[in-house]
Order: sequence, then structure tokens, then C-alpha cells
Amino acid sequence: MSECIFCKLVAGQIPATRIYEDEHTLAFMDIGQVNPGHVLVAVKKHAANLYELDEVQAAAIARACRKIASVLKKTFDPEGLSVYQANGKAAGQTVFHYHVHLLPRHAGDGMELVWPVKNPPREKLEEYAAKIRAGLA
Ligand code: 5GP
Ligand code: ZN
Repeated sequence: MSECIFCKLVAGQIPATRIYEDEHTLAFMDIGQVNPGHVLVAVKKHAANLYELDEVQAAAIARACRKIASVLKKTFDPEGLSVYQANGKAAGQTVFHYHVHLLPRHAGDGMELVWPVKNPPREKLEEYAAKIRAGLA
């Protein structure tokens, strides 16, 4: 049996407050509820992170997120919505089964993301971009 907590949750071996599912995704309430309506959209078949998703899973997650986000907007009327997804410990990932946070946001809700911009010169952007384009080719 898998030791992965979200595999267990998908399989119904541990309880979850489920809100939506389709062939590839399961959405449920995040147990921590940073704000009311905080939802996780997870893949059903185990993938640890974005790198391990296949195209079908990626498309299914995007569709489910879009659908649920509209409902959160209507239902909780937040001032904003953060879509958050961490890959690896350094990025803050704590459960290593792919999931996206849909987090209704309000001014002053304490959910701070520090964004330490470096504003490098254009040549640096070109240098980084050339490497990425080479990887895409
Ligand atoms: P990460 O940091 O990996 O993006 O977030 C993991 C999230 O999973 C956390 O927000 C945490 O509250 C949530 N979580 C961890 N264990 C459980 C659980 O057993 N059930 C539910 N519903 N959420 C969980
Ligand atoms: Zn898993």
C-alpha cells in the first residue's frame, strides 16, 4: 500500500471533505483552511510534482481549477484568488503528491509572499531565455 497521504486520501483510506472529482482529479478542502474556501485540486494517479505530470493530467488539473475557481468566486466573494503550487522542499512543498491550492484572498489576510525582484539588465534576460529556448527546441 502507498505511504503517500494523498494517495490514501484519493483511495478513501483516510477521510477528506471532497468537493469535486473527475477521471483524473480530486478536489477537497485543505485541512489547514488559510482562508474559508481553501481547496486543493490533486491528481488521482500519483505524480510527485509538476515534472511527473503527463499531458492528460495537466489538462485535467487546469480544467478542474478553472471550474472550481469560478464557484469559489461566486460563493465566497473573495477580493482575490491565489493559485499556488509548490515543487520541492525549497519551494515549500510539504505533501509530495501533485496538488494545486485555490486560495480565496482578502486584503490583510496575512498570506504574504515575498517577491525579491532583482531587475537584471536586458542582456541577462536574453541569456536566461536563450537557455530555456534551447531546452524547448
Ligand atoms: P504543500 O505545502 O505541499 O503545497 O501543501 C500541502 C497542503 O496539504 C497543506 O496546505 C496542508 O494543510 C494540506 N494537508 C496536509 N495533510 C492533509 C490531509 O490529510 N487532508 C487535507 N485535506 N489536507 C491536508
Ligand atoms: Zn500519492
